[in-house]
Amino acid sequence: MRWQIWKQRVTTALYRLFQGRYGTDQLTVVLFVVSVLCSLVARFSRLPWLMLLYYAGMLFGFWRMFSRNFAARSRENQWMLSLVYKARMQGRMLRNRFRDRKDFHYLKCPACGQHLRVPKGKGKIEITCRSCRAAFIRKV
Ligand SMILES: [Zn+2]
Repeated sequence: MRWQIWKQRVTTALYRLFQGRYGTDQLTVVLFVVSVLCSLVARFSRLPWLMLLYYAGMLFGFWRMFSRNFAARSRENQWMLSLVYKARMQGRMLRNRFRDRKDFHYLKCPACGQHLRVPKGKGKIEITCRSCRAAFIRKV
C-alpha cells in the first residue's frame, strides 16, 4: 500500500516535470548514444579529452529534453534527419553504381545535375535527361 502511494507520487512528479517540455526525439537518442560511445572510447584509450564530448553531448541532450521551445528543437531534429537521409541516399547510389559497374555508366546531366544511368559499350549515343529533357551526346 505504502509502495503504491510512493509510486503514484513519483509518477505525478515526473509527469509535472515533463509537462510542456519537448522530451526525446531521434536527435536526443543519437546524442546520448554518441556520448556514451565517446565515454567508452575515452575510458579504454589514451584520449581523455573525449570525456568532454561525453559531458557536452549529455548536457545538450538533457537541455533539449527539458526545452519548451518545440519549434526550434523540432527544426534541429529535422536537420539531423535530413543529413541522415542524404547519407543513406549517397550510400544507396554508391551501392547501385558498384552493383551495375559492368553494364552501366553513371553520368550527371550537364543541364540540371540529375544522375543518369546509361548502358555501357553502345558507342556514341544521344542521352535525354529524364527530368529536364535536355539531350546531349556521349561516348559510352
Ligand atoms: Zn537534366
